[in-house]
Amino acid sequence: MIRTIGVIGGGQLGRMFALDAKRMGYDVIALDPQPRSPCGQVADEQIVAQYDDFDAIERLGAHTDVVTYEFENIAIESIRRLEERGYSVSPSSLVLQITQDRIAEKTFARDSGAPVADFAEVSSVGDVRAAGERIGYPAVLKTVSGGYDGKGQWRVSDERGALAALEEAGGARLIFERFVPFEREISVICARSAKGEIVSYPPAENEHDAGILSLSLVPARVSPEIAGNAREITERLAAALEIVGSFCVEFFVTGGNLLVNEIAPRPHNSGHYTIDATRCSQYEQHVRAICGLPLSPPELMRNAIMVNILGTGTGNTLEGIDQLLKDPSIVLHVYGKRHAPNRRKMGHFTMLLDGPVTDREIARAREARALLRWTDSADETAQVTV
Ligand code: AMP
Repeated sequence: MIRTIGVIGGGQLGRMFALDAKRMGYDVIALDPQPRSPCGQVADEQIVAQYDDFDAIERLGAHTDVVTYEFENIAIESIRRLEERGYSVSPSSLVLQITQDRIAEKTFARDSGAPVADFAEVSSVGDVRAAGERIGYPAVLKTVSGGYDGKGQWRVSDERGALAALEEAGGARLIFERFVPFEREISVICARSAKGEIVSYPPAENEHDAGILSLSLVPARVSPEIAGNAREITERLAAALEIVGSFCVEFFVTGGNLLVNEIAPRPHNSGHYTIDATRCSQYEQHVRAICGLPLSPPELMRNAIMVNILGTGTGNTLEGIDQLLKDPSIVLHVYGKRHAPNRRKMGHFTMLLDGPVTDREIARAREARALLRWTDSADETAQVTV
C-alpha cells in the first residue's frame, strides 16, 4: 500500500507532480539542494541535500513507499543502490541508465525499431574525421550526458567546426549526429503502468528558442498518419524500456518522416498542456503508474497552446498578470522560484482554444506573453517573490 512518495529533484515538474499526488491523498517528500524548492513548497517535507548524497537519498527511500525522479541527471549509482537495498524506484535504474546517455538512448531506440538520425560516438580527432566521412556535414555535436535545454551542443558545418567543438568539450564524450533539416519538432507524452498498460497523448508541436522550449501547440499540425506513427513508436519504446511512469519522446518531422531525437524518462515540459486540456494530466498518470493504479484515457478535451514564461534577468517580480488574466481562455502556472535570471523557466500558461491551432491563435498566444515582464518592483507581495 503506497502512502508516501519520494521525489528526487525539486523543480517545477516535481511541483506539478506533487500537486496531483496531494490531490489524490498521498504524502510527498522532495529531495533537492535548494531549500523551499518549487516542489518542496507543496510537498509535505523536503530533504535538503545534493543529488549525489546517498545517505540522504537512502533516507528518502526509508521514509517513502516509492521513489521517483523529475530529472535525469542523477548519479545512476544512487538509484541502483536504492534498488539493491530493496526500495521501490520508478522508473528503474535501467531506464535512467539508457536515457541519460545519448549514445545508449539512440542505440536502444534504433534496436527497438524506432527511426533515428545517423549518429556516432566521437572522442578523438580520428573519430571526428571518420564520423564526418560516414555521416557528413552539416552536423550537430552534443555531450553524451548532462546536457539540457540546448546546452553542451554545437552545430557545425565542416570538419574544422567539429574539431573546435571537440576541443571545447574538453574530453567529454560527444555524439556526432547528422543535422536534420526538420519541418517541425513534435513530442508524445506517454505513460506505462507496471502491469504493462500503455496510454499516449496526441503529439504536441514544439517551438524552441535558442534550445529552450517556447511554445507547444496541441495537437501538432501533422497528418493523422504522422500523429499515429509517433504514438505507435512511443508506445513501442514504452514497452521495450518497460518503463513505469510518464515519459516523453521528442521527434523531428522531416520529409514526411519521423526521427526520434530524445527520450525523457519523466513528465516533460511539452506535456504541461495535459493539466488544463486533458481529463488526466501527465502528472496524474505518473502518480497512477508508480502507485499501481489504472491509467486514464489520454483524451484531449480542448486544443491548446502552452507558452513558457522565462526569466529575463530584469527583476524577480512578474508584472502584467492582471492584463493576461483578462483573457478567460488562459490558465496561469507560476513555479514559486525566487529569482528570475535570463532564460530560467519561471512558469507557463495554457491558452485553451475553441477551434484548431491557427497562425492567428499562435499570434494571440505570443501577444499574451508580451503582456508579461519581469521587474524589480519593491512590492514584496507580488507574484513569485515568496
Ligand atoms: P536536444 O538537447 O537533443 O533536445 O536538442 C535541442 C534542440 O536542438 C532540438 O530541440 C533541436 O531543435 C535541435 N537539434 C538537436 N539535434 C539536432 C539535429 N540532429 N539536427 C537538427 N537540429 C537538432
